[in-house]
Amino acid sequence: MKAEIIAVGSELLVPGRSETNALYITGKLREVGVTVTARVTVADDLELLTSAFRGALSRADVVIATGGLGPTEDDLTREAAAAAIGRGVRRDASLLEGLRARFARYNRVMAPVNEKQADVIEGAVVLPNVRGTAAGQHVETEGRLLFLLPGPPVEMQPMFDGQVLPLVAERAAGAVLRTRVLRIASMSESDVEQAVAPLYKTFTNPGTTILSNPGHVELHLTAEGTSAEEAEARIEELARGMRERLPGRIYSEDGRDLPTVVGALLRERKLTLAVAESCTGGLVAARLTEPAGASEFLERGYVTYSNRSKVDLLGVDPALIERAGAVSEEVARAMAEGARRTAGVDVALAITGIAGPGGGTPDKPVGLVYLAMAGTLGERVRRAHFPGDRERIRHQASQASLEMLRRALLGLPAA
Ligand code: ATP
Ligand code: MG
Repeated sequence: MKAEIIAVGSELLVPGRSETNALYITGKLREVGVTVTARVTVADDLELLTSAFRGALSRADVVIATGGLGPTEDDLTREAAAAAIGRGVRRDASLLEGLRARFARYNRVMAPVNEKQADVIEGAVVLPNVRGTAAGQHVETEGRLLFLLPGPPVEMQPMFDGQVLPLVAERAAGAVLRTRVLRIASMSESDVEQAVAPLYKTFTNPGTTILSNPGHVELHLTAEGTSAEEAEARIEELARGMRERLPGRIYSEDGRDLPTVVGALLRERKLTLAVAESCTGGLVAARLTEPAGASEFLERGYVTYSNRSKVDLLGVDPALIERAGAVSEEVARAMAEGARRTAGVDVALAITGIAGPGGGTPDKPVGLVYLAMAGTLGERVRRAHFPGDRERIRHQASQASLEMLRRALLGLPAA
């Protein structure tokens, strides 16, 4: 089942004000298996609002509006919703009575403008407001559910929880939503898209979205079913096709990040690791030690930022650094080999590059990184040129180094 949310109010369309009602509603709807397919914020304008209601009701099974139910001239939600579904409004006698009583309790006379708050769309059910004067409304039109709720979150939330969600949940009748996230490293968003779009476009359930992050791309597969098993089975069918089209590329389908996946593989294979890092300054070691249990495979990390440390700690030949430069394939190889030898481990990784912002030359631009691996899994080396600022370059370098190791651990060819 699909829902759309309309947040009403010009005051929400200025800088510094956040629209929070739709987020709240989205989270609750998801729990009962309803997907939110659109959210809009619309100014207090009758024409704009009417067309927003028309559009939403032409697409979604459930439409929920919040705000614009107050007594002032710019509170137009009722009128717009009524116009959109071609119905009139009636003045509800008991609501009017309630409003009068409320004013009387505070020893105030109700101004005539307030009577508008007793207007109800023909055929609508009134949703009492325990926290304020604006009552909500619920109307069913052409098989679709329409709800009008007050804008203030303290009023909207209890009304939504108590009077809207149960109705929507009943209509959704046990529909279940499940999402699986497939993660891919060392591939661009467009390459991933190109590989899987022809497949996922043939599926309407699950739906697929691609998200690009520095260093990895995510495929979000969301399926609806009448049970969790059915939703999972639908996801698995599409995921299987994606694995075929992205052979060896998907490193996780269960929320784990790349260091966690690589750490688990090293533990399984009882291999020990050392890392020698220049431009990443220990980032790979830090990321590998974030999850507990790293002591089983990580022997040590070297932060060899200076040339001297590469010589002193890793035994890199100073003449090689002089000849090839610290950022070079040769030095990356020598760093990996030196780390493997001095640490006495099975496998070693090395990273040397230019993270910027300074230090780039036409030959060796900012973002140029050499990644190397030495040891029992074989030797590998890769030259990469990462885009972005210093932080992104360093993160992508750490990601590419871990992906190099993951591929070697699984016997996959270098990327
Ligand atoms: P009432 O008559 O009880 O004020 P109303 O339906 O007229 O209800 P609005 O006048 O539209 O409500 O909004 C009142 C206030 O509620 C806004 O000024 C804003 O602070 C808050 N509000 C409204 N909509 C939202 C929203 N979508 N997200 C967050 N806050 C909101
Ligand atoms: Mg308003």
